Amino acid sequence: MGVDLPVFPRKRNVFVFTCPVSIPGCPLVIDPTGLWFRPERDRFLCGIPADPDPDVTPDDFDIDHALFESHAWPVLAHRVPAFEAVRLTSARSGHYDYNTFDQNAFLGPVPGIPNLLLASGFSGHGLQHAPGVGRALAEYIRFGAYRTLDLAALSYARFPAMRPLRELNVI
Ligand SMILES: Cc1cc2nc3c(=O)[nH]c(=O)nc-3n(C[C@H](O)[C@H](O)[C@H](O)COP(=O)(O)OP(=O)(O)OC[C@H]3O[C@@H](n4cnc5c(N)ncnc54)[C@H](O)[C@@H]3O)c2cc1C
Repeated sequence: MGVDLPVFPRKRNVFVFTCPVSIPGCPLVIDPTGLWFRPERDRFLCGIPADPDPDVTPDDFDIDHALFESHAWPVLAHRVPAFEAVRLTSARSGHYDYNTFDQNAFLGPVPGIPNLLLASGFSGHGLQHAPGVGRALAEYIRFGAYRTLDLAALSYARFPAMRPLRELNVI
């Protein structure tokens, strides 16, 4: 549609592992390195961003197993000594719709293109935004303006105006 949208696929691998030691009440943990882990029934999930973190082709879902061995595991074992003995059981990968401009979503209308509403570029935190975005865009569609939630700060206009709304806490 001719919209210059700085949103590109960035791969994130999710690793599933078991640990011989039970860790009751283990919360979701995010390490300053960007590694995160959390319990999932009888096992754990973890992920860590690649560094460097290049754009990938839309059909590239290859799993980077070396990322677990060389990056995730050492940090896991440092954070929780029992994780020294983890066993990787499976892995999967997905894409962030990564906004390289400021790592936040573009929402709502695009100047000059009537009937186009954006909800793109969530950069890995769109699930948390989903209820608010759904509500705000529904209001926009119904009333032609935001009502209960004013999400204009996330409008596309900030990109051509070079006014980033930078999100720093993307993992
Ligand atoms: C590994 C991983 C972990 C994540 N963890 C979190 C988290 O902890 N917290 C969080 O808030 N967010 C997280 N996210 C991000 C979150 O999943 C996304 O921000 C959110 O799903 C974006 O929602 P969406 O509706 O914009 O896009 P999507 O959920 O990707 O939906 C787009 C839909 O459009 C469909 N589609 C694509 N092309 C076409 C086409 N041409 N025609 C018709 N349909 C099409 C797709 O099949 C898909 O169903 C994570 C993402 C990944 C990959």
